[in-house]
Amino acid sequence: MEFKKKYADFFETLHPDHKNEQRFVPAVGPEDAKVMLVGEAPGANEVEQGEPFVGRAGEKMNDLLHDIGAEREQLYITNLVKNRPPDNRDPKKNEIEAWEPLLEQEIEEIDPDIIITLGNFASREMLNTKKGISQIHGRIFTREGRKIMPVYHPAATLYDRSKTPELEKDMRKALGKQNTGQQKLDEM
Ligand code: URA
Repeated sequence: MEFKKKYADFFETLHPDHKNEQRFVPAVGPEDAKVMLVGEAPGANEVEQGEPFVGRAGEKMNDLLHDIGAEREQLYITNLVKNRPPDNRDPKKNEIEAWEPLLEQEIEEIDPDIIITLGNFASREMLNTKKGISQIHGRIFTREGRKIMPVYHPAATLYDRSKTPELEKDMRKALGKQNTGQQKLDEM
């Protein structure tokens, strides 16, 4: 079912300040996905294509999923804030508060085995902590009976490549894709 129809009750109650058709990006993925990825907020590419994680950070994530043998199409991919913030700024507290109830409804609906939160914003919000992602990434937390693993945001690995192996290791752990030690052909 179309995202906005499915969550029509939420959109009816969303404050008009947060309604913005030109900046909105819905979640994507199967309704029975076992794994849910939660990003921060969409960027320009995501708005253009109407799908989360299709820009540079998305490419990075797709490459990584491919490398570890996971399928993007099997994952439910969403964002904490569903509107693109102006000038790519960080989401504000009132935006996070406005959109969080929708994320909670998505979690109830999809009922994933594990939720992977990408970066500080989604991780802090979901885990109700002020701790930074570098302190908590790769650990499995339980929240209301659900498993949550915070990982580095793929965009962070674009600026600091030393975070890539950490992100890969954490994603392998979360997705049950342990490294077999086999070398990748293009690395040889
Ligand atoms: N970064 C995010 O957090 N979400 C997206 O959808 C794209 C980039």
